[in-house]
Amino acid sequence: MPEQPRTAAVTAVVAGVPVDTRHWIGGRRVASAGTFTDRSPIDGRALAEVSRGGAAEAGAAVAAAAAAFPGWAATPRAERARLLHAVADGVQQRLEELAQVETADNGALLRSHRRGVMPRVAHNFRFFADRLLTLDHEDFETRGHSNHVSWDPAGPCVLITPWNAPLMLASWKVAPALAAGNTVVLKPAEWSPLTASLLADIAAEAGLPDGVLNVVQGLGDEAGAALVSHPDVRRISFTGSVPTARRIAGAAAANLTPVSLELGGKSPLLVFADADLDLAVDLAVEQYDNAGQVCLAGTRLLVESSIAEEFLRRFAVRAAALTPGDPRDEATDLGPTVHRRQLDRIDGFVRRALDAGARAVVGGGPDEDLGGLHYRPTLLTDVAQDSEIVQEEVFGPVLTLQTFDTEDEAVELANGTRFGLAAVLATGDPERADRVTARLVAGTVWVNCFFVRDLRAPFGGSRHSGIGREGGSWSFDFYCDLKNTVTAPKGGPGHG
Ligand code: ADP
Repeated sequence: MPEQPRTAAVTAVVAGVPVDTRHWIGGRRVASAGTFTDRSPIDGRALAEVSRGGAAEAGAAVAAAAAAFPGWAATPRAERARLLHAVADGVQQRLEELAQVETADNGALLRSHRRGVMPRVAHNFRFFADRLLTLDHEDFETRGHSNHVSWDPAGPCVLITPWNAPLMLASWKVAPALAAGNTVVLKPAEWSPLTASLLADIAAEAGLPDGVLNVVQGLGDEAGAALVSHPDVRRISFTGSVPTARRIAGAAAANLTPVSLELGGKSPLLVFADADLDLAVDLAVEQYDNAGQVCLAGTRLLVESSIAEEFLRRFAVRAAALTPGDPRDEATDLGPTVHRRQLDRIDGFVRRALDAGARAVVGGGPDEDLGGLHYRPTLLTDVAQDSEIVQEEVFGPVLTLQTFDTEDEAVELANGTRFGLAAVLATGDPERADRVTARLVAGTVWVNCFFVRDLRAPFGGSRHSGIGREGGSWSFDFYCDLKNTVTAPKGGPGHG
C-alpha cells in the first residue's frame, strides 16, 4: 500500500526487458509488503518477485477505478477509441518484448507469441475501439413515442485472467470493458503475471487517464477473492477453471454483481469416414498446441470405426514428427507445461487412466529426454465414456480416442460430458455437417477447421463451460447497462 516502503526487489529484468512487478493503482506503482516468486517453466529459474496483493490493495484499486469512472464514462466515444488505438500502437511497438516476456513467463511458443498472439492483442484493442464507434440500436416508435436505447457504462469491472494465454485474454476483456466506458481492475494469474505489468506501462504511455486501468498482482484466494467480493464492482469477467468459477460466482452473488464466465472444455473432435483423413489428422495433432493448455482444445477424438485404424496409423506418424524443446526456438512445436503442479496433475490423470485399463498408443508420460516440465504428446485408447480421463479436463497434451459406428452414437458421445465449449467436425458431407452441428452442445463448432476466431463472433460455452458470451456486440451487452428512453411526442399525450 502507498504507506509501505517500495523495495527495489520487486522489479525485475526478464528476457532483457525491465518489468515493474508492483501493482498499478490510480496511475502509480504500489508495492505490497509481501511478494511471491514467479518462475519460468522453461528452466525453473526465478524471474521476478511480484507484489502479493490482498484486501487492502484490492480496495485501493477498486476505489481508484471508481474515482476515475465518471470522467472516463463521460469521455466522448471518439476519444476513448483514439486512446485504445494508442494502446494498440504501444503493443505493436513493444511486440517483440511482450512476446519474449510472455514466453519466459508461461512457456508457450515464442513464434506463436510473435506472429499470432501479440498481433491479436493489438487487434483486440483496435477491434473494440472501432466497434464502439458504430455501436447502436435501432430507434423505434410506440404510438408516437420514440424509444432510444443507449449503452451506459456499468462502472468498475474486475477482470480475472488465467495463465495459458495471459495478455491475449487480458486484452480480450480489458479492451471492450474500457471501450464501453468502464474502468478496470485486472488481476493476472500468479503463474504468469508479467505482461499485465507491461500492459499498465503501455496504457500509461498511451495517455489513458489515471485509475482507468489498474493492475493488482497476487494470488487467487487473496487478491482475486478480495476483488470479486468487493461491493463497488459492477462487472466481473473471469476465464479459468470450474472450481474457481464457482467461488467467484458465489462471491458475486452476495453483491448481485453480473459475471461472465469462460471456463474449461472437453471438446469432441469428430472424424467421419467421409472426411479428408489427412486434414482430420492435422486437426487432431493441432490439439497439442500450447502443450494442450487450451480451453478450446478438442481433446476427445471420436473416430468412425471403419477408419479408426488408418487414422491412428497416420496420427502416430504426425505426432512423432512434432519437435519438443525450448519454446524460444523457432523449430520447437511443443514447449513445457506451465508449472510443476500442472505437470503432476496431467500425469496423475494419465496414470489413473492407464490403471483403469487405457492404452497409451502415443506418449504416456513426462518427456524423460528433455526433463523439466515437458510432457510427451499422448493419445489414449480403450477409455470408457464415463471414465475420468474422458469426463474431466486435463489441460495438457493428452487426447483420448473413442470410436463410433453411427451418427447418432457420435453425437451421443460428443455431448456426453458436462461441458459445452467447442466441437470440431471433420466430414466431407456438408449435409452431415449441418445435421450434426445442429445437435451438438457447444458455443463454437468448427467444420473442417480449427481455431478460426473472428472478433465479431460470440464466444463462450454452454453447461459447465461458462455463462454468457463475449465478442462483437455481445461484449458490450455484458459490459454496459442498457437504457431505454421513451419520449412522448411533442404536444402529444403524456401516456402511451
Ligand atoms: P487454474 O486452476 O487453471 O490454475 P484458476 O481458474 O484457479 O486456474 O485461476 C484463474 C485465475 O483465477 C487466476 O488469475 C487466479 O489467481 C484466479 N483465482 C483463483 N482463485 C480465485 C478466487 N477465489 N477468487 C478470484 N480469483 C481467483
